[in-house]
Amino acid sequence: MDDKAIRKIVIVGGGTAGWMAAAPLAQLLGGHAHRPCEIVVVESPEIGTVGVGEATLPPIRYYNQTLGLDGADFVKKTQATFKLGIEFKDWGRLGHRFFHGFGDFGPQVHNRSSFLYWLRLAQTGEMPPYEDWSTATVMARQNRFTPPSGDVPSASNAYSFAFHFDAGLYAAYLRDYAMQRGVQRIEGTIVDVELRPEDGFVAAVKLRDGRRVDGDLFIDCSGFRALLIGGAMKSAYEDWSHWLPCNSAQAVPCARVEPLAPYTVSTARAAGWQWRIPLQHRTGNGHVYCSHFTTDDEAARVLLDSLDGEALDAPRQLRFTTGLRRESWVKNVVAVGLSSGFLEPLESTSIQLIMDAVGTLVQMFPDRDFRPGLAAEFNRKTAKQYESIRDFIILHYKLTERSDSEFWRHCAAMPIPDTLAHQIEVFRESGRIVILDRDSFAEPSWISMMFGLGLRPRAHDPFVELVDESALRTHLTRLREAIAGTVAAMPDHTRYIERHAKADPLPSGRPVAVAA
Ligand SMILES: Cc1cc2nc3c(=O)[nH]c(=O)nc-3n(C[C@H](O)[C@H](O)[C@H](O)COP(=O)(O)OP(=O)(O)OC[C@H]3O[C@@H](n4cnc5c(N)ncnc54)[C@H](O)[C@@H]3O)c2cc1C
Repeated sequence: MDDKAIRKIVIVGGGTAGWMAAAPLAQLLGGHAHRPCEIVVVESPEIGTVGVGEATLPPIRYYNQTLGLDGADFVKKTQATFKLGIEFKDWGRLGHRFFHGFGDFGPQVHNRSSFLYWLRLAQTGEMPPYEDWSTATVMARQNRFTPPSGDVPSASNAYSFAFHFDAGLYAAYLRDYAMQRGVQRIEGTIVDVELRPEDGFVAAVKLRDGRRVDGDLFIDCSGFRALLIGGAMKSAYEDWSHWLPCNSAQAVPCARVEPLAPYTVSTARAAGWQWRIPLQHRTGNGHVYCSHFTTDDEAARVLLDSLDGEALDAPRQLRFTTGLRRESWVKNVVAVGLSSGFLEPLESTSIQLIMDAVGTLVQMFPDRDFRPGLAAEFNRKTAKQYESIRDFIILHYKLTERSDSEFWRHCAAMPIPDTLAHQIEVFRESGRIVILDRDSFAEPSWISMMFGLGLRPRAHDPFVELVDESALRTHLTRLREAIAGTVAAMPDHTRYIERHAKADPLPSGRPVAVAA
């Protein structure tokens, strides 16, 4: 058994994906003298990283906890702020805003979301907005933050949170963690990949300076270049741009503005949308757009014209194609991060997909026999999760009522995957949410987006009628008051950071990069 164990892992790429893969593998495989496993990360100083990727989803906390990272230290070292969700402006229709908060609409009632009970009352009379039952949303409206507490479901813990952080500082933080646990870092540019003649597995990568780095398992974290998975393994790329037409972004940092919002802002623009991500040392901004409907210059102008603070650099342009590799694991190559696929950052899902890919790799970890079932399961799970997130993102565009630009008219008219059409139809008919993949967005997220974008169910769940109407009204009123009262007693987000996780100033002379 032992002689088949993986003895050397080569991670190609030292961006967020490379170090997010290296850190847990070092934690799990390092320090076992009876079965040593070398881990090497190869990164190219000439090529650099994509330099964006600053907003995350709540499971990042469990990733950090599993590594044993100190929460406050992590926030300080990465200039992070807390994220309760995303505010959507001008999506659905111009002048309209709504919030996609992390967490449910208050504690569930008889295993059903409080939203479904709210819907029943709202369909027969006047009700305050459903967002009043989302603790995360009420907190975000008032710029308040404190972590949820207690195990018993209540107004004070029916929410979750993630982080905004500096992507370059996060990768550096994980790099230090991994290298302290024995991971070796090799600086160099890979110019060739050597395949084993007998089976086409990767034997080694060759660097420009002549060095050869061999290994048993190769994790391709080389970003959009997809050096091993696309290059050597020739795994085809499934292009989804007919459903998600945005193919470009301009990104620029600007000076920090007050108050420090505990949420991302996503503002729809004429040919795409713009992000605003508050960090402790600056605000990250970007304009994601479709180059068929606007020019790069116009996209940069729209971005620069709508910054909250002084621009700290010139906008940097990125190009991408939304889609997924047909197979992310081929032979002894496993793709993690941008090399495996890309979904635009509208719901901050890429880092989540990295975490999940690393988790699945650990679950399906091979020995040197590389039994095909392991790769098949990895590929099945990856495809399912990507497809579900893809549908969730398409929903943001498809449900628009905007017709003020060619881009939005295109989005409203475009065909969508059958899976998404089914989800929309079930919600429209009955207010019920169909969850096609448990590793993707949960019911409250789908409700926030469907309802926020203007889709109104025609009927409601008959089970919610089992509760007496006046008892239900009293329950919802009390719950709303409890949420409002709980939030009113929470500290301001900026003050919470100052007290618990204020970052040290960056060393002077550090260049202000887009995100790295
Ligand atoms: C516009 C935009 C906004 C985004 N926003 C978010 C967000 O808010 N939230 C989120 O979760 N995700 C976001 N993402 C995605 C996120 O940036 C990536 O998932 C994340 O940075 C991981 O990138 P990566 O490590 O796969 O690739 P990269 O950062 O590109 O790293 C690639 C690495 O491979 C190395 N490399 C490449 N070629 C070679 C070679 N020949 N030899 C040696 N080394 C090589 C490079 O040196 C580098 O170290 C965004 C992406 C884009 C494009």
